Amino acid sequence: MEYTKLNNGVLMPMLGYGTWDMLGDLAYRCVSEALEVGYRSIDGAQMYNNEGELGRAIEESALPRQEIFLTTKIQSDKDVHGAIHRSQDLLRTDYLDLLLIHWPLGSDLDVWRVMEEYYDKGVLRAIGLSNFYDDDYRQIVDNCRIRPQVIQQEMHVLCQRKELRKVYKKDEVQLEAWSPLADGRREIFSNPVLNEIGAKYGKTAAQVMLRFIIECSVVAIPKSRNMDRMRENFDIFDFNLDEEDMSRIATLDEGKTIFGWYK
Ligand code: NDP
Repeated sequence: MEYTKLNNGVLMPMLGYGTWDMLGDLAYRCVSEALEVGYRSIDGAQMYNNEGELGRAIEESALPRQEIFLTTKIQSDKDVHGAIHRSQDLLRTDYLDLLLIHWPLGSDLDVWRVMEEYYDKGVLRAIGLSNFYDDDYRQIVDNCRIRPQVIQQEMHVLCQRKELRKVYKKDEVQLEAWSPLADGRREIFSNPVLNEIGAKYGKTAAQVMLRFIIECSVVAIPKSRNMDRMRENFDIFDFNLDEEDMSRIATLDEGKTIFGWYK
């Protein structure tokens, strides 16, 4: 595993496991398997309705809690205190490694102030944002007492965020890529450029996509419901992409979201 040091000194794994769109037994089984494969960072959210299953899988893995980097995301600007406590209860943990505001909620600075309070108490080791752009992002970064450590945004080979990456670097905010495999859309796993590059290293298109994100100093949180593919996605720490590979992958950038559920 490779790690990034956040702006407050906390270490975060460069690769984590995503848990969107997995409910009940499926979520429990997949998170248990991901931990068995070796993932030590789990990306959850209140909105995913599976925090209880994540908490049970983590507890039953018998791994020391401090070996796991656990993220969840807040989904309402109402009763933030209650929401944090509920997540702690469901996830069966005294503290969260990272709490993000899932998307702009309205009273975001007020939400942020509460998160700062829990950060001060040591309940939150790191705090951050997701799906915040332009003024929404600046409002927090320019007015906060505690600067976000992480921002989670859509990023993958088709949407590479070149300009935003410069902003985050300047602001010392770590970018974390959601849907790092483009959610498997657009026949991405058969993309000839990714497959040709992968062939040089004995790697798959998925592995090239994830390695690309890490070479950009961005954290990736792929999801698979299949243990073999979980292993495949985890097996990316024994090769590097060279400059020519990176330039070829840069040509795949379409410069915009492929999902279209936010602006
Ligand atoms: P990913 O980009 O991780 O892609 C997942 C899809 O790719 C699944 O269909 C999976 O199928 C398939 N897949 C995974 N690995 C492979 C492989 N090696 N070969 C072939 N197919 C593969 O999708 P997500 O949208 O789930 O994004 C990842 C995580 O990001 C989410 O789970 C969530 O935690 C986070 N996220 C956050 C958002 C936010 O608003 N903050 C928004 C969206 C996502 P299979 O399961 O069959 O392997």
